[in-house]
Amino acid sequence: MNKIRLFGLFLMMSITVIAFGQYKSDITIPDTTKAVITDPKDLSVRYASNISADELKNHLMVLASDSLEGRETGTAGTKMASEYLAEELSNMGLFAQHRPGLNRYFEPVAFTFSKWLDTDLFVNGRRFRLVWEYLAYPDENENNYLIKDNEIIYLGYGIDDPKYSDYKKAKVKDKIIMIRMGEPVNPKTGNSYITGTAQKSDWSTDIHKKLKVAKEKGVKLVLVIDEDIKASIENNRRRLLFPSPKMGDFLNTPIETANAAYISPEIASLIINENARKVEKADRKISKGKPAKVELPVDFATNMTKEVKVIKDRNVIGFIEGKKHPNEYIILSAHYDHLGKRGDEIFNGADDNASGSGMLLEIANAFQRAVMEGNRPDRSVVFLWLTGEEKGLLGSKYYVEHPVFPLENTIANINTDMVGRIDKKYEGNPDYIYVIGSDRLSSDLHKINEEMNQKYCHLTLDYTYNAADDPNQYYYRSDHYSFAKHGIPAIFFFNGVHEDYHRATDEVDKINFDKMVNIGKLIFHTAWELANRPERIKVDGEVK
Ligand SMILES: [Zn+2]
Repeated sequence: MNKIRLFGLFLMMSITVIAFGQYKSDITIPDTTKAVITDPKDLSVRYASNISADELKNHLMVLASDSLEGRETGTAGTKMASEYLAEELSNMGLFAQHRPGLNRYFEPVAFTFSKWLDTDLFVNGRRFRLVWEYLAYPDENENNYLIKDNEIIYLGYGIDDPKYSDYKKAKVKDKIIMIRMGEPVNPKTGNSYITGTAQKSDWSTDIHKKLKVAKEKGVKLVLVIDEDIKASIENNRRRLLFPSPKMGDFLNTPIETANAAYISPEIASLIINENARKVEKADRKISKGKPAKVELPVDFATNMTKEVKVIKDRNVIGFIEGKKHPNEYIILSAHYDHLGKRGDEIFNGADDNASGSGMLLEIANAFQRAVMEGNRPDRSVVFLWLTGEEKGLLGSKYYVEHPVFPLENTIANINTDMVGRIDKKYEGNPDYIYVIGSDRLSSDLHKINEEMNQKYCHLTLDYTYNAADDPNQYYYRSDHYSFAKHGIPAIFFFNGVHEDYHRATDEVDKINFDKMVNIGKLIFHTAWELANRPERIKVDGEVK
């Protein structure tokens, strides 16, 4: 389970509540006057019975042991954990992905983190501060110890189009240019000179198009005048203060756009200084569809030093091919990474999420038993152990950006994150689970899980955290959300937080393995039904 920063949380919360309706948020108490089905002739019962408390304990003793050093993403700990998962899959005879030329349990992932070490902007000796007066993004700029000049070229809109080009006759190589957002519009007709209609071209909508041209022309820095810098700062503060990594290894990938900083109109005025008349004149020409430029003498400097770090790791995949619909996939997921260690303290994350990882092994084993007895499921079932969850759902973000199985044929995601403990509310009543997300994209998915529970398990299904306005917003805080974001119905099983959550005290001796067996069985029954029912489940909710 991912700790989310408050800013984003409240933002998402307000969006969710204002824009969208409500979801199931009460508690389903099973009807115990009807007995659960226990007849082993029922295949679902037969294979679910393979989920064992002893085996779960064995898995957690390894995954949450000190020797794995808290399983921080990109460390020896996740390497050892992933090796254990692969070895277990191999031992049960469950193979890796079967694709031509590829038979492996490990799916390599990489995350590129860029952040500013130091950046300032100086105009005529006056210093301006990032996120207060201007914006610049570390993933849009080269590492620049210093960019300095005594002249900036005002270059209108910075457009280079067959219909209109600010670059005509302009010598910009190794120069700093200052441009406006948008494109020239005929003041009489309101039409763009580029599209010839009221519709704006992509020069207006995609600033990177301008920055790419500037790069091609050899411009060393583009200053983009942002008329509403306050709003832009508000919208991008989080991106700058808590940068999320790019999916992949971009350490040596050249940046395709010119160095860029987005400046306030006040900074622009300071640069224009005594040349306001000339700039106004140029603007009038431009508004007639004729490019114009102004050379502005100014004492300008900016430093942009940044740090780029790449973390490499791997997701682990086990695959059972379906016999009737091999090209339809159900993905069961659990993140296997955790927080690592701080000093001598090791965060073993027994509940978070060795519990879900071990449970997934047991569910995989149950499916594999079915295969070995000739009862292969109709649809393909994918077991996916994800890394990078604690660093921002990275393993699942990477997966959906680089899917191993086509997302459009991925019919559901079942995610387990923290399934081995009992929270305060359910002290003395372990047979409960919080269910999150089930009704948000597919009422079929929700109904199936409810039915399987009534038929086989009789657990209390608590939807408190599924409420759109729940302050914890758990729906956005584990890996299922990466799938849901792509329109894949997702259901998330979670036991709630406790005093050891994200503490070094989250240890195996506090895990309730009997409870885990019951949760694991429900998940198996739901997955088995999803894999074997005649029709694939329908998507009837909206991505939020
Ligand atoms: Zn966590």
